[in-house]
Amino acid sequence: MKRVQLSVLVVLLLTGSAFARDRDVLYQLSSMAALKAGAYDGMKPYGYVKERGDFGIGTFENIDGEMIELDGQVYQVRTDGQVYTPADSTLSCYATVTFLDEQAVAQIDEPMTYEELMAFLDRVVATNVPNAIRIEGDFEHVKTRSVPAQEKPYPPLDDVVAKQVVFELTHVTGTAVGFRFPAFMNGVQAAGYHLHFLTADRKAGGHLLDFRLTKGRVIIDETPRFLMELPP
Ligand code: ZN
Repeated sequence: MKRVQLSVLVVLLLTGSAFARDRDVLYQLSSMAALKAGAYDGMKPYGYVKERGDFGIGTFENIDGEMIELDGQVYQVRTDGQVYTPADSTLSCYATVTFLDEQAVAQIDEPMTYEELMAFLDRVVATNVPNAIRIEGDFEHVKTRSVPAQEKPYPPLDDVVAKQVVFELTHVTGTAVGFRFPAFMNGVQAAGYHLHFLTADRKAGGHLLDFRLTKGRVIIDETPRFLMELPP
């Protein structure tokens, strides 16, 4: 009798573990609408966010710069242009992450502008689900930005973005990290592409504004399931 109960317990534990490790869940902390309204209070530490994905984008408590999570490592690009590796206890007020798999790969052998590459992706990805997008390659030009940390009372996001610091990078190798969100997710997210960038030497990056890709490869991973935690 005791043995039967034990085996039931084991099955339940395995089921729970399998659910927690669903690699095709898009995990969303807060929402774009909340961020736009100025909800910059820290919600969850990045140690917690990293358990829900090894790939993604976001920002920090007080909207202190741009977050890139690449291969399970969280990077912070502040307005001084420096790239930091914050402790797991550092709080996030907004993040979108998933576990990245190479579901589809596109090789890019000729130069493409940002608009050309996004138009190409629009033709090849499923547009009714969120897609994780990783673009790694050599870039002739990359334009990024970061935003300055804020104090309470927090201003809305548009006022913060008006004070953004723009970085122009030329002839860099690096990775664009982000997502394409379907139109129906507008508000929860901004519909369309939201990408951040990090150089291969981990010395520059930020929220991606524009680029010209010389050559590279694009990894696409559909994330048909969605988990969201709302701000208090
Ligand atoms: Zn961004």
